[in-house]
Amino acid sequence: MVYSSLTSPENQDYCYDIKIAHLYGNLMNTYGDNGNVLMLKYVAEKLGARVEVDIVSLEDDFDKDSYDIVFFGGGQDYEQTIVARDLQAKKEALESFINENGVVLAICGGFQLLGQYYIEASGRRIEGLGIMGHYTLNQTKNRYIGDIKIHNEEFNETYYGFENHQGRTFLSDDEKPLGKVVYGNGNNQEDGCEGVHYKNVFGSYFHGPILSRNANLAYRLVTTALKNKYGSDIKLAAYEDILAQEIPEEYGDIKSKAEFE
Ligand code: GLN
Repeated sequence: MVYSSLTSPENQDYCYDIKIAHLYGNLMNTYGDNGNVLMLKYVAEKLGARVEVDIVSLEDDFDKDSYDIVFFGGGQDYEQTIVARDLQAKKEALESFINENGVVLAICGGFQLLGQYYIEASGRRIEGLGIMGHYTLNQTKNRYIGDIKIHNEEFNETYYGFENHQGRTFLSDDEKPLGKVVYGNGNNQEDGCEGVHYKNVFGSYFHGPILSRNANLAYRLVTTALKNKYGSDIKLAAYEDILAQEIPEEYGDIKSKAEFE
């Protein structure tokens, strides 16, 4: 059963409508990833868009033409196994959505499942959707946990976050990272990459949630979705005018608790 979990207040003037599919929102939500949906809604409303959020979960159809943004959060290995089986029925629609440049934000388990496969901590292999080229290996008796900072050269944007994952993800040649690691582990601690950027799919291991700490990325996702729907020449409020002043500078480069204190 697809059900709406959030809608914008009615007593406001809106110029646009944005509809978000929250994939498996009742199963995939580690470390407050749901906050990303709240942030998308917050930014969209600031840009004059009315927002509706549907939870699309087990045995639901994903109707690609109904949605402007897909959010797919992280999960524990147990939930990922259940979700991975159900996902195959949604593969065709999700693949078209991505190929038609739909905007997707996928965190941790969601990011892993868009790829080829994921090896659980136990060593068992879970098939991914196979829409994107990355794959995820396991590691024994270790997780990547801690503060992380990355830089995206193409956008010249820096993102801050907190990572917590056992999976070690490797990107394919047609995928770019969301950013290069400045400090932290990133996808696999080896190649300096964190997350993925492929068409309008943005994947990351950042929890916390990523968008509330990185309003620049939230702005990018919502404006991309609005331009996809209403045309690239629509006039939207600038990031500097609606969001930049809300982030105190001292929240920027905090590497450790000790440094913060
Ligand atoms: N279970 C996966 C891992 O440990 C994803 C974790 C998550 O989504 N937080 O890598």
